Amino acid sequence: MTSPHYCGRFAPSPTGPLHFGSLVTALASFLEADRHQGTWLVRIEDLDPLRESQEAVDRILTSLDAHHLHTATPIRFQSRRHDAYQAVIERLLATGQAYRCPCSRKELQANNGHHSERCRHREAIPAGTPFAVRFALRDAVAEWQDRLLGHQQLTVRAELEDPVIQRKEGFYAYQLAVVVDDIDQGVTDIVRGSDLLATTGHQQQLYQALNAPWPSWFHIPVILNQAGQKLSKQTHAPALDDRQPADNLVRALTALGQQPPASLAKGTVTTVLDWASAHWQPDRLPRHSQCEQHPTPPQR
Ligand code: GLU
Repeated sequence: MTSPHYCGRFAPSPTGPLHFGSLVTALASFLEADRHQGTWLVRIEDLDPLRESQEAVDRILTSLDAHHLHTATPIRFQSRRHDAYQAVIERLLATGQAYRCPCSRKELQANNGHHSERCRHREAIPAGTPFAVRFALRDAVAEWQDRLLGHQQLTVRAELEDPVIQRKEGFYAYQLAVVVDDIDQGVTDIVRGSDLLATTGHQQQLYQALNAPWPSWFHIPVILNQAGQKLSKQTHAPALDDRQPADNLVRALTALGQQPPASLAKGTVTTVLDWASAHWQPDRLPRHSQCEQHPTPPQR
């Protein structure tokens, strides 16, 4: 049996510029694709115009370029894929694998954050009442062999955890779009932060509902700030300094357990990436989250 051509991807949501944590994820997925002589895609997950901006998209793409994390294929923007997501939602609604949920935030809060049990079987929703669309999960134990973390097992609870796949405002949700696009783009191997581990069980069921085999997952530890919080826009992670890409890449390699020689930071981006490609050993990756290391101060 021949194995499918390796296809990996980096799929940032453009809520802000790239920070060190996102560089670590981008680099790990890039080097894994390189190790398998596979394809590496970049997909901008711009689903939420209220939290995302064109400026963030531009800065992310400029940063990837400054770090020579180039893709050979055109960049996909999820904001241009609404028809595909809508078609899938209609299919899931028609087959009873998704349902309309008009629960208000207040009702959800009163019910411990869970929507009402009647939701799945509601007869009709009064005209004009806004509703979200949720995917109907099955009670199950999700299992997979994570490429880094080994055997994983997660309990998936039907109804209680049913994820929103289209929000009340009409925006398509991450859970749906990520699976639809990973299937459509032929992604075989997903390298991403372990903060997304908990969503994997839900996504497995979406793959099943869409009759597609699920990819292999490689969840890498997230990078924390000094306060122990994941680097993100919400925790005010600083933007990467694109003027010192070699140094950023060397720090990212260190965070990925690769032990690059310190002298490498004085080299060019090309020498760092050549070293990384020749020495990349995924089994050296740490299994636990770790704190960001600070950039080397510029030489005077
Ligand atoms: N767009 C998601 C994020 O920026 C990542 C999606 C994924 O890797 O599955 O957190």
